[in-house]
Amino acid sequence: MKPAKVYVLRYGHRPQRDKRVTTHAMLVARAFGANGFILGDVVDEKVKEAFEKTISIWGGRLHFEMGVDSFKYALEWKKHGFIVHLTMYGLPVDNVIEEIRNRMGDLLIVIGASKVPRFFYEVADYNVAIGNQPHSEIAALAIFLDRYYQGRELYFEHEGGRLRIIPHERGKRVVRKQPFSTLDA
Ligand code: SAM
Repeated sequence: MKPAKVYVLRYGHRPQRDKRVTTHAMLVARAFGANGFILGDVVDEKVKEAFEKTISIWGGRLHFEMGVDSFKYALEWKKHGFIVHLTMYGLPVDNVIEEIRNRMGDLLIVIGASKVPRFFYEVADYNVAIGNQPHSEIAALAIFLDRYYQGRELYFEHEGGRLRIIPHERGKRVVRKQPFSTLDA
């Protein structure tokens, strides 16, 4: 059976002020095991550049799209999957994470920037809170993915890229990845 896709839809990105936050949400999506990052409704070349640079250096197979209509995207997604909207008004993550993990179909995680329209509260199969206090979409996404993958995401391999970090107790150890050789096949 094909493994379910896990995509993140970033709603409400404001290019004048959210470049860094949205870039960090993309980095968290990639590093914490999502397969796709969708920047809804706007095109921001800076976020795309950061995505391309990260993949070229550190690898991974994150699908990236921007400028898509978020409402239509969410409605289309429901034909093959389900939606989790991260919001402080939702149900505690601990109450629903097991059901979400065991549910069939592709998972779309919606995160907002400023005010999120009612549409997402209604289209979502789960409105999930990471605590009922306001904080950040980056923190909410990181904790949600960590609970979803139960910590395994920290050890996922990211194929391709040029560099790999060798964990070290002090200082920085970074090595070049070996290019693929047909002799290894
Ligand atoms: N005031 C906005 C609203 O009413 O939707 C929230 C703005 S908040 C800075 C941006 C995003 O962070 C939210 O849309 C949500 O995705 C996420 N977020 C913030 N706190 C959260 C929490 N406690 N649980 C889950 N998600 C949260």
